[in-house]
Amino acid sequence: MSRVVVIGAGISGHTVALNLKHLLKKNHEVLVISPNEYYQWVPSNIWVGTGHMVADQVKFPLSKPYKKLGIVFKHAFARTIHPDGDNATDKGFVSIEHVESGEKEKIEYDILVNATGPKLNFDATEGLGPDKSGTLSICHYEHATHTWNELQKIIRKMKEGKKQKLVIGLGHGGATCQGAALEYTLNVANLIKKMGLSDMADIRYISNEYMAGDLGMGGAYVRNNGYVAHTKNIIESLFTEFGVKWYMKNSVYKVEPGKIYYEHIDGTEGIMEYDFSMLIPAFAGVGIKGIDKEGNEITDGSLFKPNGLMTVDSDYSSAKKPYHEWRGDDWPTRLQNPTWKNIFAVGIAFAPPHSISRPRTTASGRPLTPAPPRTGMPSAVMGHATAENIADIILNNKPLDSKFKHNASMAKFASICVVSMGYGIRGLAGTMSVYPTIPDYTKYPDFGRDINYTMGEPGLAGHWFKWLMHYAFMWKAKANFGWSLIPD
Ligand SMILES: Cc1cc2nc3c(=O)[nH]c(=O)nc-3n(C[C@H](O)[C@H](O)[C@H](O)COP(=O)(O)OP(=O)(O)OC[C@H]3O[C@@H](n4cnc5c(N)ncnc54)[C@H](O)[C@@H]3O)c2cc1C
Repeated sequence: MSRVVVIGAGISGHTVALNLKHLLKKNHEVLVISPNEYYQWVPSNIWVGTGHMVADQVKFPLSKPYKKLGIVFKHAFARTIHPDGDNATDKGFVSIEHVESGEKEKIEYDILVNATGPKLNFDATEGLGPDKSGTLSICHYEHATHTWNELQKIIRKMKEGKKQKLVIGLGHGGATCQGAALEYTLNVANLIKKMGLSDMADIRYISNEYMAGDLGMGGAYVRNNGYVAHTKNIIESLFTEFGVKWYMKNSVYKVEPGKIYYEHIDGTEGIMEYDFSMLIPAFAGVGIKGIDKEGNEITDGSLFKPNGLMTVDSDYSSAKKPYHEWRGDDWPTRLQNPTWKNIFAVGIAFAPPHSISRPRTTASGRPLTPAPPRTGMPSAVMGHATAENIADIILNNKPLDSKFKHNASMAKFASICVVSMGYGIRGLAGTMSVYPTIPDYTKYPDFGRDINYTMGEPGLAGHWFKWLMHYAFMWKAKANFGWSLIPD
């Protein structure tokens, strides 16, 4: 019997665990470690942050599906990975710390999947975050609930006739998740519009993107109503329609209560005042350390890169090449650690080879490059492909370096992104699909992507689709009847 240990039970880790157990059945063990005993459907935190949903609608206890499928769950933090074991064992293990008791435990594995997602690195920007200056977040259901409480206070003030400044966007020059910041901006603007308070609100979007619609993927040309349009035009027209002012090419470096300090790409310094602000922080690895057999920390980059993300089969040397020489082939196809081939990383936990957007800095050298987004759909697709590859190895006794069944490269599959702009039966959402996720100008010299499969359109159908996605993905994550038939 083999034991596969999955660290993290978010979109990618939960997908790995459900699919692996489904494929391996009772003959092998799947064990999941997570400090959060709930699964959360992160994308719907947008609606928690605008009061359309409460936290209980976007989360559920992991124990339910895990009991149903026979997955072992440890409510704990993974602290260290010992890929060669220690002086007591040659077998790789993870050292965990139980959340309630603080007790430590060694969890041995045959195969390990790291799916820890990001550490919300508020500390990378001076003063950023709910615990410091008071800028808010929607990255977790608790943050989003708090953010909604703060938004209601602002709405009350507007109703009293006091004009309010709302600033939403990216709180660091290297932050990712532009799609979430954009979606939250448009949802807030729509809510205020529906309340008839637009005249009382000065809504601003501040971002490290070079232009609106960059979205951390260098923007995209999409088919739109029979024409080819750039995402810049589509997003700018949405901002205009919703009365949002946009401030691009800005590296936010400091926040104080009521004040956001930023440097523009040309070196101009600015201060943006706010009454309400939601800024997405930079992401980093969650801080798990690799430890060698002698008990020393592995610091040579063979297990984790300096940003704490896990080393996989990316071509990391490509980062040194000029931007125009970056290729889809730089991206990992196996999501497998090259030194310890029984270790994999999926979702935000793997270290990408480089950004997707062109790297830039401000005139004074501050970062101005969105980190590459590994959004929900790619995270789930990577998780599913990795589960199938691991199951194939285990069930067919294949060596770990054999040819894999599935190519898990983001350069080989499409991504669909739906940006809602409201809630309820009537609404609007921008639906965008890009193929491939990572542009490839060698294969698609005109647009970098296959224009037949790369499209974007705002409309009511997308809005319903987004709504449906919430219920379909919650159903699937709960491992309810027919879950495995619902696409990632
Ligand atoms: C507000 C918001 C809206 C979004 N909307 C969309 C959208 O509409 N569409 C889309 O495609 N994407 C969207 N995204 C992005 C998407 O949510 C992420 O890309 C996705 O959640 C990444 O999955 P993951 O598994 O890598 O990480 P996560 O989902 O963050 O999961 C990480 C898991 O690891 C666990 N963990 C952390 N530390 C440890 C540790 N030390 N030991 C063990 N476990 C640990 C966590 O508890 C969690 O269970 C949105 C993101 C945000 C913040």
